[in-house]
Amino acid sequence: MGIILKNREQIELMRESALIVSKTLGILAKEVKPGVTTLQLDKLAEEHIRDLGATPGFLGLYDFPNTLCMSPNEQVVHGFPNNKPLEEGDIISIDCGSFKNGYYGDHAYTFEVGEVSKEVKKLLKITKESLYVGIDQLRLGNRVGDVGYAIQKYAEDHGYGVVRELVGHGLGKEMHEDPQMPNYGKRGRGKQFKNGLVVAIEPMINMGVKEIIHLSDGWSIITADKKPSAHFEHDVAIIDGKPEILSTFDYIYEALGIVSDEEKPYKNTAPVLK
Ligand code: MG
Ligand code: MG
Repeated sequence: MGIILKNREQIELMRESALIVSKTLGILAKEVKPGVTTLQLDKLAEEHIRDLGATPGFLGLYDFPNTLCMSPNEQVVHGFPNNKPLEEGDIISIDCGSFKNGYYGDHAYTFEVGEVSKEVKKLLKITKESLYVGIDQLRLGNRVGDVGYAIQKYAEDHGYGVVRELVGHGLGKEMHEDPQMPNYGKRGRGKQFKNGLVVAIEPMINMGVKEIIHLSDGWSIITADKKPSAHFEHDVAIIDGKPEILSTFDYIYEALGIVSDEEKPYKNTAPVLK
């Protein structure tokens, strides 16, 4: 298919789609707690996405049956919502897509359910940090391998496993466009970045080994050693040679009372005209 670069107008439409997902994850952040089922959260997300004039991006895509991919604990990604209540100490990776004005939004966050262990907290922290380490490499002249290398090195330096079989991707009128954006790689290798590239960067990092197992339902993927796995994803455009994050975790942070300036270097800083 080749890489489809986007102009400013198209990027603004994509920002709208991304922010619909961001707002939806913000709504879910308030509801993720022991006792709630992932199916309840799925219904809530679908309603909210439709209220915002969009359609769920995953529903029906490759025949996926729900609005959200819900992957608790040792599940890596692509899990189905179900009727099993979340339990204290679980983590739940929620991946959400939207479709509006012909463009997709696609981003993800791993939530803590009640109080989680120190070990798990660290996995979430390092995985999220690896996302920004990768995003920082989305600069004019850099290459696909620079992003993967940065994420892999950051995660492996902390002793974690980097999933190989699943990767980030270009985003636009299709949910998955070129280029593929692996979370591992070699510096200076792969396609070179240009302005107007829009990609979903999404490290999937395992507390233990990098190997995964595909379950017989055809979708769910778990870690081979059954240790927890985390997943964070942002939609990012290269504008004026630099990465700009189109999605945001701000709605989640607002709901959870978290203060963070991690996105600040990658936010739209265009001067406001008076
Ligand atoms: Mg996603
Ligand atoms: Mg994605």
